[in-house]
Amino acid sequence: MESVQGIAVSPGIVIGPAFVIGEAEKHVPRREVPPRERAAEVVRFEDAIRAAIGELGDLRDRTARELGGEAAKIFEFHLGLLQDQSLLEPIRTRIRDHGENAEASVADRFRLLVTQFEGLGSEVFRQKAHDVIDLERRVLGKLMGESSSRLAKLRDRAVLIAHELTPSEAAAIDRQRILAFATDLGGRTGHTSIVARALDLPAVVGCARLSDRVEDGDLVIVDGDSGSVILRPDADTIQAYRELDLRKRQYRASLQADAAMKAETLDGTAITLLGNIEFPDEIPVVLANGGEGVGLYRTEFLFLTSASEPTEEDHYAAYRRAIELLHGRPLTIRTLDLGADKYTQLRAEEPERNPFLGLRSIRYCLQNQPLFKTQLRAILRASVHGPIKVMFPLVSTVMELRQARMILHDVIEELEEDGIDFRGDLPIGMMIEVPSAALMAKAFAREVAFFSIGTNDLIQYTLAVDRGNERVAPLYSGASPAVLQLVKGVVRAARRESIETSICGELAGEPLYTMLLIGMGLRTLSMAPGQIPEIKKIIRAADLERCERLARKVGAYESERQVLNALRDELRAVVPDSTAGWTAE
Ligand code: PEP
Ligand code: MG
Repeated sequence: MESVQGIAVSPGIVIGPAFVIGEAEKHVPRREVPPRERAAEVVRFEDAIRAAIGELGDLRDRTARELGGEAAKIFEFHLGLLQDQSLLEPIRTRIRDHGENAEASVADRFRLLVTQFEGLGSEVFRQKAHDVIDLERRVLGKLMGESSSRLAKLRDRAVLIAHELTPSEAAAIDRQRILAFATDLGGRTGHTSIVARALDLPAVVGCARLSDRVEDGDLVIVDGDSGSVILRPDADTIQAYRELDLRKRQYRASLQADAAMKAETLDGTAITLLGNIEFPDEIPVVLANGGEGVGLYRTEFLFLTSASEPTEEDHYAAYRRAIELLHGRPLTIRTLDLGADKYTQLRAEEPERNPFLGLRSIRYCLQNQPLFKTQLRAILRASVHGPIKVMFPLVSTVMELRQARMILHDVIEELEEDGIDFRGDLPIGMMIEVPSAALMAKAFAREVAFFSIGTNDLIQYTLAVDRGNERVAPLYSGASPAVLQLVKGVVRAARRESIETSICGELAGEPLYTMLLIGMGLRTLSMAPGQIPEIKKIIRAADLERCERLARKVGAYESERQVLNALRDELRAVVPDSTAGWTAE
């Protein structure tokens, strides 16, 4: 038995036989084509491209049906590339004029493009390089008269273990046969991870060399909740995971029954529970889980699903759709949080040595004003259709906030000049996710209508721990007294200036922290939709006085361990069957 720790990207536990797609060496046949056969070879190449385009078009349509139009746009880049004459024409020339066979010519030309994308250094272009490899496999598969993937040969139900899965491979997964997947490469915000979550397919990525350690048919456990992958588990471990899985399923089903109940504490304090979304199509899931609206719409995902920069109409259509799906419930739109781990697609960028400390989020928008203004115009136009708010991410200085507001003001003037309708009293807020903003919360509170605390980044910047780096993962903790002090200060400053504060980092959806957050004064929590029912259960079982006592107690602690112990004890006392800390051991 062996255990590998990866990054949990899509929840659920699955036990099943492995089906491995390793870093297979592709043998590309090379031969010289005699002059009289070259025209036919070009036709063979054109047929392969046409077949690949047809297949991708079907995949896009299927994805649109199953996951919505936004997710389907992932394939627009693929389809665009396969029709790009600057890629195709040199291949035709090499076949026609140099007698290269179609396979060799395709492989060489696509590889050149991969190298070019990789050479550009940034995460954006690495993602593009993966997309090109994906396309190369597909076209070569057509030419070589075989399926581009071993996946098509799979007959029985299995857990897919792969060196890497491209987004199109993930989207093409047959849910009847693939129960879960785990990959060597990948990160939480990769296209493939997003597709897995949208498909509701348990998945773990970033499992370094996992595919080398597993053989076809080996039994594996993929735990998409904790990020563990267990290879060849012994009978006790299998039993333990089966029980854990059953317990979790039963627990979630029991919570679902109460999803529509009010989120209020025993003494009647109302708490607003909202969902975090990446695509408008997730809104029905938020509502089904008992969410009362959207507290964080991560709009940068519009870039992820589009081959080029979204137009004002693309933005507007997405916001309008979100508003319609919410039927009058609140929607907080966060302006583009591009850069660092989030894609800027084909926009040219200098590679940064420290992208998380670099040109990201609001900084990126302030330096790319046309892109920022396009989004702001669309938000303002959409504001007449429903109760929306707008907030800026990663603000670290008051000057930055003022600059962002000035640009918003320019856009407002432009709209007025153009006679376009918008809501003049659109609430403008900011995320608190940098220690400098938390420490200066009082000054910020005088300039915005609301705060939303982004603990994911606040933890990483306070503790100097990369939130996506497995090697320092144990150092990344919301129970750090330093982080809690910052949160406390932000809530206090907001209260003094009478502005609203909510929290939208992952901490908001962690059962262990619910009572503490309420005790600290937070009344609005925004989280991954699936977490809402469990958090609601805790709220309904707690009373405010108890939560406040806990917050006071925890506020005096100096170590993370003390904090965690207190949180565990209190949660156990109030909701003895909460899932916090459930493990298979
Ligand atoms: C956060 O940083 O807590 C947050 C909600 O933003 P994101 O996870 O999108 O960076
Ligand atoms: Mg953030």
